[in-house]
Amino acid sequence: MKHYKPETLCVQAGYEPKTGESRIPPICQSTTFFYGDTQKMADLFDLKSDGFFYSRLANPTVDVLEKRIAALEDGVCGIGCSSGMAAILLTAMTLCEAGDNIVTSGAIYGGSYNLFSTTLPKFGIEGRFFDPDCTAEHIESLIDEKTKFVYAETVANPAITIIDFDKLSAICKKHGIVFIIDNTLTTPVLCRPKDYGAHIVIHSTSKYIDGHAAALGGMIVDCGNFRFKDNPRYPAFNIPDESYHGLVYADLPVAFGTKCRAQMMRDTGAMMSPQNAFLTYLGCDTLALRMQKHCANAKEVAAYLNRHPKVEWVKHSSLETDAYYALAQKYLPKGSGGMMSFGIKGDSKTCAVFMEHLQLVTQETHVADVRSCILHPASTTHRQLSEEELISAGISGNLVRLSVGIEDPADIIADLENAFRSI
Ligand SMILES: *Cc1c(COP(=O)(O)O)cnc(C)c1O
Repeated sequence: MKHYKPETLCVQAGYEPKTGESRIPPICQSTTFFYGDTQKMADLFDLKSDGFFYSRLANPTVDVLEKRIAALEDGVCGIGCSSGMAAILLTAMTLCEAGDNIVTSGAIYGGSYNLFSTTLPKFGIEGRFFDPDCTAEHIESLIDEKTKFVYAETVANPAITIIDFDKLSAICKKHGIVFIIDNTLTTPVLCRPKDYGAHIVIHSTSKYIDGHAAALGGMIVDCGNFRFKDNPRYPAFNIPDESYHGLVYADLPVAFGTKCRAQMMRDTGAMMSPQNAFLTYLGCDTLALRMQKHCANAKEVAAYLNRHPKVEWVKHSSLETDAYYALAQKYLPKGSGGMMSFGIKGDSKTCAVFMEHLQLVTQETHVADVRSCILHPASTTHRQLSEEELISAGISGNLVRLSVGIEDPADIIADLENAFRSI
């Protein structure tokens, strides 16, 4: 299956029915699984054989989605989580303990930023932030022997910056550090981070992979390309885990994925539900088609906004004038997805009037689904921030975030044009 292209893997990977079985995976709505044999059960607990015993650790429907996304990312193991944030938390918990630190791009999803800046520090794990456009030397100056991973998003939500993979992967290689990419806004259809040196890939499947705003979910993919064995940075992978019969994770073929599931999923229970795995699996069938359409529509809408007299600036890497155009050409030749931001000439009030006059494009705190949606951060998600705080978060009062859907682009543009006439 692995040699197929992403378009094929989106519909074919993960599930192969045997004769007489259902063509698409059944929803296996069961907490537990029957075993009539004590030895077989013992072998499962010892990780000597594969099988299901309790849906907090693994479930057949979730397993299908895990295999599909792992195949798309060219990984060796996928772990379905209850949300994207759960996936990020579990990844951090698998690699870090109190006293460790994480070196991360500051241009990341708000929830991830809070996790690294506020919540994990309460447990003794420090987030060290860098500007994604800073020099390699600056990033290296943040790294010490307690750094457990370097973290970034391919296309950042909501900053829409694009990460320079070569810069980060060279640093990680030099220091023997795990390189983690949140690939939510690009999906493996537009970019496969492993090809550029990433070791672990994370998704909020709640966005494009589901694509229909129907199911929350997260996915962790272990790419199987990081050697934990005898790496002094990762003692927890090289000493026996007494909570798991003295298992040494670095000795296993899938070191990170096994530790993550056997230890952290066991202890946190942040598992994806079978129902959500099923919905996400269905959504994923059309992922490649949808991404093509999101990219084409976004390109058209960005060009329209860019020449609009009432628009001050537009950020989308399909525009030759965009600061990330060159990086997008290099890493995202098929397109950079449907997310963009733009500044309306005027202030926060002008934006509010504009938003009120939209009819098709709806106001939502969501992005990356089939329907176009829009958000004015200064009056919604970021309204508690002062003028100065907004500026330091890179959010001007006139910034509008737009997630372009798969409708006819002429209808999206007509709706925007109608709202522009009101200001
Ligand atoms: C939405 C999002 C998340 C969080 O995912 P949830 O499924 O909402 O928990 C993480 N990273 C990025 C880039 C996102 O857009």
